[in-house]
Amino acid sequence: LNRRLAGLGTTIFAEMSALAAATGSINLGQGFPDTDGPREIAEAAAEAVLTGRGNQYPPGPGIPGLRTAIAEHQQRFYGLAYDPDSEVLVTAGATEAIAAALLALLEPGDEVIAFEPFYDSYAACIAMAGAVRVPLTLRQPSFRPDLDELRSLITPRTRLLLINTPHNPTGTVLTPAELAAIAELAVEHDLLVITDEVYEHLVFATGHHPIAGLPGMRERTVAISSAGKTFSFTGWKVGWVTASAPLVSAVRTAKQYLTYVSAGPFQYAVAEALHLPDGYFDALRADLLRKRDLLADGLSAAGFQVFSPEGTYFITTDITPLGEKDGLEFCRSLPERCGVVAIPNVVFYDNTEAGRSLVRFTFCKRDEVLREAVERLGRL
Ligand code: PMP
Ligand code: GLN
Repeated sequence: LNRRLAGLGTTIFAEMSALAAATGSINLGQGFPDTDGPREIAEAAAEAVLTGRGNQYPPGPGIPGLRTAIAEHQQRFYGLAYDPDSEVLVTAGATEAIAAALLALLEPGDEVIAFEPFYDSYAACIAMAGAVRVPLTLRQPSFRPDLDELRSLITPRTRLLLINTPHNPTGTVLTPAELAAIAELAVEHDLLVITDEVYEHLVFATGHHPIAGLPGMRERTVAISSAGKTFSFTGWKVGWVTASAPLVSAVRTAKQYLTYVSAGPFQYAVAEALHLPDGYFDALRADLLRKRDLLADGLSAAGFQVFSPEGTYFITTDITPLGEKDGLEFCRSLPERCGVVAIPNVVFYDNTEAGRSLVRFTFCKRDEVLREAVERLGRL
């Protein structure tokens, strides 16, 4: 393993899901639903395979029907206009979009400011690009960005801000005022912004606001999303980028040599999914809101300090009230102690002190699974 990837051995998600399988524990670690998305969308994927649509290499940027559906989605939900041919790119999940964008846009030594805790692929991809990550720590209890601190982190080497809203793992959803302040800094310092919006439809009360819609931002923003979370098919790995034509062209150049193209038949199915009526998106949100409260109440009753999220399907907790200090140790022993798996937030921090006692649970599971997990945690 080269020096750039030193210390990035095995992702926490692989470690904890393997532990869940080995111990037969309830897996509230890795974020994937235990109920698949809409039946008709699964049927569309099967139909595409059986009728030979997408079984051979689809077009590199994605099939036209999906690129059009993505552009229509941005228009329908946010009033943002993108040209499906030059301003939309289909990727192998958001994960590839993140990698391709960072590899395409960064020079070695460039600084990237990212909210910490950060989704683990950010650190790895910034490292693979030979760039330097500069964390802006979101601190409990609010986990909101300190915008003066953000300003103070900008140097002549800063090239890019990497933001994530709704934010994994804290559930923070950036407000219009916060986004406007970030946008102003980006314009003032001529920075690019990569915005990871994979949880865009998993927002409970505040609404999701894409930064690309703010003044001066369209030309400097690479927006990333994915079908995985919105349609509960995380295994399909269909993601996308929307951005101005020069930025999409840069990201496409990198994507060509990472995967060349993304899975064909699933693109047909996701194109249909993006056209689902508003009722689908409302029901998803309502269902997850109920699950959030079910798990949050249970975790509070079990003695955790709970930071109820505004979005995503994760709850961050502090284990200090349980007499525990170390989230990593806690998560490694939890399966044995009570048959539940969770994720230690500390792995998402450079500044590990800020995340040491924080532990993340996902609530994208059936109610009876959440209830059973809470009961087990109550016996700790
Ligand atoms: N970004 C964030 C913040 C995530 O939580 C995830 C979860 N998988 C991804 C990106 C990756 O999305 P995908 O599965 O589409 O690659
Ligand atoms: N995004 C999900 C999570 O944060 C899954 C990530 C993964 O498996 N790489 O749990």
